[in-house]
Amino acid sequence: MVAGLSLPRIVRVGRGAAEDLGDVVADLGLSRPLLVTDAFLVGTGAAERLTATLRRAGLHPRLFSGTVPDPTTDSLAAGLEALREHGADSVIGFGGGSPMDSAKALALLGVQGGHMRDYRAPRVNRGPALPVIAVPTTAGSGSEATQVTVITDSGTDEKMLCLGPAFLPLAAVVDADLTMSMPPRLTADTGIDALTHAVEAYVSRKANPFSDGLALAAVTTIGRHLRRAYADGSDAAAREAMMLAATQAGMAFSNSSVALVHGMSRPIGAHFHVAHGLSNAMLFPAVTAFSVHAAPGRYADCARALGAAAATDSDDAAAAALVDALRALCHDLDVPTPRAHGIDPDAWARLTPLMAEQALRSGSPANNPVVPTADQIRELYARVYA
Ligand code: NAD
Repeated sequence: MVAGLSLPRIVRVGRGAAEDLGDVVADLGLSRPLLVTDAFLVGTGAAERLTATLRRAGLHPRLFSGTVPDPTTDSLAAGLEALREHGADSVIGFGGGSPMDSAKALALLGVQGGHMRDYRAPRVNRGPALPVIAVPTTAGSGSEATQVTVITDSGTDEKMLCLGPAFLPLAAVVDADLTMSMPPRLTADTGIDALTHAVEAYVSRKANPFSDGLALAAVTTIGRHLRRAYADGSDAAAREAMMLAATQAGMAFSNSSVALVHGMSRPIGAHFHVAHGLSNAMLFPAVTAFSVHAAPGRYADCARALGAAAATDSDDAAAAALVDALRALCHDLDVPTPRAHGIDPDAWARLTPLMAEQALRSGSPANNPVVPTADQIRELYARVYA
């Protein structure tokens, strides 16, 4: 098998790395970046500090702070206007997955025009697009290192997966100091998102030896540090470890794929406005229990990396231990069921057929060790509702 590997050309990782952003952008020969972020990061002063590093490097940045969580096609219009008015030659995505994904979409639409619907999977987008530089503030989506953007169609509420090298950042500046302000819920949700990326990348039918190494390293690190970061957000060592693992997990799934958890998670986010990592978490143990029998050795490796099983355990026992460990993790991180989260049972039941259809259409379930039918996906939605 020949694997295609794509990574950002430049990755700066470490506490304080964001101070170097101006030099990173200048070294790429870029001078007029649009800094795409959200109102929260303007409010904390973090966006202004980043703008200052760009100015110090002699660049001419413009700030656009109008992104929304789980970006929609409608939310991109004002950003496109800012991009054009500024004559931007690059886009910096600064924030969690939402501002980074917004930046990626703007970089493509700014050059090619059209509607994001035209670019959704299975189309592979090779460009042209403006160069993207990504600076994450959650640990997290891994979007700083992925050839993926996820944009919700405002007309249909469908969370569209859009793929291809056009969305791969040219540079990623990964600074764990930016995550110190995350409250516990965000820490848990984004951390489970990263763990889901790593496990799904490893069990995916598209896994390869390169993505495997990154995936297992991320699983190990998250197993050791996520509970710590959740319990004490000021634990800088745990924050740093989680940030590194999230970027590794992003690289892993970007060069492999995600699978059924993500396929089923996006429709929950789109229809019920559940944070992306949290909807993953609601599904992760049940979908893993559904899938393990088709790839016990792969899931067993994840269990051992997570610290949930010993090297001497049989693969079947270790795979079963992974399901238990994911249940325990979700319990410890206070992950609610959809019912406990307040989602109306009638709305859940009514939307389940559409969610199953949208999950399948995203293509992600086809990478799962067990490729599910629409009926099986509907059953899984019913099972996790609880
Ligand atoms: P987010 O970007 O949606 O942000 C969630 C909230 O956290 C926002 O209110 C934001 O202001 C706040 N926030 C961000 N950084 C913070 C910090 N340091 N301290 C305190 N608050 C902070 O959250 P996310 O989970 O990082 O991203 C989720 C989005 O990313 C979803 O839309 C998901 O579909 C997408 N995603 C994309 C990829 C990809 O590869 N492109 C991968 C996974 C997820």
